[in-house]
Formats: sequence, C-alpha cells, structure tokens
Amino acid sequence: MDDPPSIPLPLGRDRRDDLSPHLRDARPEAIYAHVPFCRHKCHYCDFYSLVDQRDRQPAFVDRLLREADRLKELTRLDGVETIFVGGGTPTLLDPPLLARTLRSIRSLATRPPQEFTVEANPETVTAEVAQTLRDSGVDRVSMGCQSFHPDHLKTLERWHDPACVPIAVDHLRNAGIQRVSLDLIFGIPGSTLEDWLGDLETALALDPAHLSCYGLVFEPATPLVEKRRLGTIAPIDEDLEAEMFEATRERLVAAGFEQYEISNWAKPGERCRHNLVYWRNGDWLGLGPAAAGHLRGVRYRQVPRLEEWLDSTPPAPVVDLERAEPSVQRGERWMMGLRLRDGMPRDVVESLLEDDPARRLVVKRHLEAGRLEWRDERLRISDGALVVADLVVSDLVVPDGVVPDGVVPDGAVPDGVRPDETLNP
Ligand code: SF4
Repeated sequence: MDDPPSIPLPLGRDRRDDLSPHLRDARPEAIYAHVPFCRHKCHYCDFYSLVDQRDRQPAFVDRLLREADRLKELTRLDGVETIFVGGGTPTLLDPPLLARTLRSIRSLATRPPQEFTVEANPETVTAEVAQTLRDSGVDRVSMGCQSFHPDHLKTLERWHDPACVPIAVDHLRNAGIQRVSLDLIFGIPGSTLEDWLGDLETALALDPAHLSCYGLVFEPATPLVEKRRLGTIAPIDEDLEAEMFEATRERLVAAGFEQYEISNWAKPGERCRHNLVYWRNGDWLGLGPAAAGHLRGVRYRQVPRLEEWLDSTPPAPVVDLERAEPSVQRGERWMMGLRLRDGMPRDVVESLLEDDPARRLVVKRHLEAGRLEWRDERLRISDGALVVADLVVSDLVVPDGVVPDGVVPDGAVPDGVRPDETLNP
C-alpha cells in the first residue's frame, strides 16, 4: 500500500455509530475504497490488510457492491471528482472480480471522475490486469516499489522482485495508462546514500508522472519495531536520513518534478488530486473494511474486521465516528496546510490565529527562526527547514492554550536560513 487512505486521526474507541444521518447531508468530492487483501504482510506495514484469503474475494466484492448501491440511495454523488481504490493490494483481485469492483465504484460518480487511481504491487500487474484497469476507466496507477535493492526489500519483508517493476510499467503503458506514480522509501536500515540515489535513478528511468518518497516510519506494533527491539536491525543515522531527503529534493527538481507536498513530487499537471482532497480537509466517502471517511467535519472509520464487515448491512455500522473539537480541527488544518508546499493563504492563517495567542506565538517564533516564511501571501515551511517539517508542524498541532516548549531544537535549521519578517497577519 502506498498512498495514505486517510490522515492521522485521534481514532480508536471502536464505538458503533450510524453513518446514515451524516450521509444525507453530505456531498463528497472523493471516494476511497479499501481492498484488504495482500499476498504477504510487509514488516513495516500498519494498514489493515489480510494475507490473500482468495476464498473471501467473491464475498468481499458482493458486499462492497451492495455498499456502493446503498450509498447511491443515501447521499449526493454529483460532486465526486476523484476515486482511489487502495489497500491492501486491489490488483490481487481476480481480474473479473477486479473489473466488477472498479465498475461499481466508478458508477458512484454521476459524471466521469477527473482522476481514477488504483494502487498496485508490481508483481500483480500482468497484461490482463493492466487491461482490466484501463477497460474499467482507471487512468492512474500508484505502484509500491519502495526500493530496487533486493536486500533492502528483504529488510522490509517486501516480497516482489525489483525486476517486476519495469515489466508492470510496460503493461500499464501498453494498456493506455500513462499516469504512473511510484512509491519509494528511504532510510531503510542498512541503506546508504548511494543506494538511495540509485533507487531514484532507477525510478526516474521509468519516466513516472509522480513519485512519493517517504522516510521509513517504525509504526507501533509492526514486526519492524520488534526487530529493532531485538537489535536485529537498527534505524539509520538521522543525519544520513536528512541527507537522503535533501538529495531527493535536489535530484527530483533537476528532473523536472515539483515538490507539492513534503513527501510527494509531480511532473507539471500531475499532482494527485485525490490526496489533495485529504490534505485540504475535503469530504470523502470511505468504503470497505477499515476505510476512513470525512463528511462535513465528521470523521469515521469502517469496522476493521473483515468477517464483521461482511456480515453487516450497508451502510456498515462505523466505528470511531466523531466530530472533532474545534481545537482539534484547527490543529489538523495546520498539519495538512503546512505539509503542502503551496502553504496556507494569509486569510486562513488569520482566521486560525484569531483568539489563539498560543499558536500565534509559535508561528511568530518559527518565522523569526526562518523555519516558516511568507511567500505570495501564503505561509509555508521554508525550503531550508523542510527537513524538520514534522517538528514544526507538531509544534502547531497542540490543544488550544498549550504553549509548546520548543519542540524544534535550536540549531535545527541548516545554514542559509535567515530570520524572516515578524508575523503580522
Ligand atoms: S503490500 Fe505490504 S505495505 Fe502494502 S498494504 Fe500490503 S502488507 Fe501493507
């Protein structure tokens, strides 16, 4: 899996709720459908996925289609502009089931979507699967490569052979899908800067329209964390990881990509419109087990257990449905707005800082330190501080009235970053 299906939320209470009243008032602009099957569980992965379960595929698809039909009755779908089918590994579905799934999800949009993306793992993209995707209306594929080095894939317990990737890309292009995004991970234990630069070159040679380059995260309760605890692997040095991040920027800018989000790079016109809905806090429906959604300030997640989800009547009883407190909503807007390289418009910053002296002080401090900057009337993280972006953002994602005590350490900004104007919003 690769593109994030949702933003991080304070979820986890697992309380049952009825989504229907929220669907009646909604007009989502995006649809996310979650296919929870994988051939194998990668050791860094904390997404909801189950190893294969081929025998469950027909029941899963039947249930998903019933959910799609029910949603047509319950909510307005004339605003849907993007569709993203992720997982898991959607391309693991048998082609006839994959076709049924994609056509049904696509039929939710009352007019042709601007973008229809499916996630894929390279070893699953045969010529038949590629043609099925295209014939079902898919125009963009996001493929999880992670690394082209077999030993680093092994560290991640990622099972595909790197040689599958160019073959899969060829199949997609031959089928008529030109918009291919590749996912890569840097900072894998044991990797060097040269390894990472080599991965970037191999990816660029495939002429992708979009690249997602994430630093490896040790997610709680994953086998990777256990290996770290046992000492069988060790995280790479922080300075080396920062070097990899900087080298990524340098190389991808030279190759004609724009960094439109901290971890995402696009050729002109190739930004992922669907993920922008998440990052701009738009409204989207989530279908399938464990899928998250957001409708008019209400966030929810479907039950993250396949059997329970299969037995439920659509729309599924959702878990963790909640309307975020205004302070939490503000924190989320900071988090997502500052991850985007376009930054946040001055009027939005002004409205967020109104009656919020604690955050105003934080913003002022980061402006003075050169970590934030105004550019074209938008507030954004400065280029030189991107490497500490998560720390800057976490300074702002705090409950109202709490003044963070200097999460970003002094001296964390590389040379060349000068203090900016004082904040004057
Ligand atoms: S392919 Fe690996 S990383 Fe992707 S969802 Fe499956 S287990 Fe997780």
